Amino acid sequence: MQKRRDFIKKTGLLLGGISILPNYAFTSNFQKEKLGVCLVGLGNYSENLLAPALQLTQHCELRGIVTGSPEKIPLWQKKHGIPDKNVYNYKTMGAIADNADIDVIYIVLPTGLHSEYAIKAANTGKHVWCEKPMAKTVEECQAIIDACNKNKVKLSIGYRMQHEPNTKTVIEWSTTKPFGKIETVKAEIGFKTGNPGNSWRMDKELGGGLIYDVGVYSINAMRYTTGQNPISVVGNHKNTRPELFKEVEETTNFTLDFGNGLLGTGKTTAAESVNILRADCEKGWYKLQPFQSYTGVGGKASDGTLLNTYIENQQARQMDDDALAILENKPVMVPGQDGLRDIAIVEAINKSAATGEEVKIY
Ligand code: NAD
Repeated sequence: MQKRRDFIKKTGLLLGGISILPNYAFTSNFQKEKLGVCLVGLGNYSENLLAPALQLTQHCELRGIVTGSPEKIPLWQKKHGIPDKNVYNYKTMGAIADNADIDVIYIVLPTGLHSEYAIKAANTGKHVWCEKPMAKTVEECQAIIDACNKNKVKLSIGYRMQHEPNTKTVIEWSTTKPFGKIETVKAEIGFKTGNPGNSWRMDKELGGGLIYDVGVYSINAMRYTTGQNPISVVGNHKNTRPELFKEVEETTNFTLDFGNGLLGTGKTTAAESVNILRADCEKGWYKLQPFQSYTGVGGKASDGTLLNTYIENQQARQMDDDALAILENKPVMVPGQDGLRDIAIVEAINKSAATGEEVKIY
């Protein structure tokens, strides 16, 4: 494969990054001008969202996999043209260090495993993309950041909403303030869930429950809507179905105090379907409803402005933005500190729920 790429380079068939060969000529070849992405963990998100999205990116290419499930390997190889030399398991993934096809390692594992494998990824010298929530604890998040800094690689957290255009408008309004000072913000996300089963998401150690899985979307949203970090939180948990939610909570409510009278109210729940982000300001309001969805995010403002820009694929936009940050050596849109800050707030919410006290965040 390397030989073929060298041949193509030498014979000048790649002109200014544009191939004059038909697409099918590259079916078993990777394009050098794109970044090679290796997915770690081939579960639902990798298989059904990220791998298809990678086909739609301009700057990325799926070139490698890390999996502990040997039965998935031939299916992924066939579907995505991945050669044997780019297939790894959790023990061998350190060898990616010597694989020139791979530029980025994307961690798509259960949350409790993010820090271990993101650190392994950073130590290969490849750039790291890590799914949300970044990790289980602030300490783990900091360890990921430190490993990426030590290895001089970029780290992006997979909060795809921050790449989505309507959300980007809301983020911009946190500084331009078209409706005046923000007085309150609200972000609620939940899905009425029957029996959640025994998924790792229901496991306290591996997943941590809803507050980690989707609660971080409300926390992140209140932070990007206000452009501020809370200085203290109050949280409480509610569990109306302890027979189903044995280790983790069914509902968590929280209030974030951003200082100067600005309060945020958040909720994450498996007891009802809710999906709203709303800012009430001195001179009006705006909301996204849903604010978190694969297929479309939209809303409006009190003056009739519609927030209804449609993009085909959020994951493709996110991965292209993150790839460009690497290719052009510019700051990533969602750095590790952003992921860490949310986990600091999750920890504070859980502490407040356990003690009944307000918890300060430093
Ligand atoms: P999943 O359960 O479908 O897949 C998890 C994968 O991890 C599986 O392939 C499983 O075999 C593997 N795995 C390795 N060790 C494991 C262990 N000890 N226990 C359980 N599984 C193990 O989960 P998913 O929905 O693909 O989620 C993976 C990650 O992606 C999570 O961090 C999740 O928060 C994130 N995610 C992000 C979004 C988003 O919109 N950004 C959406 C869904 C999931």
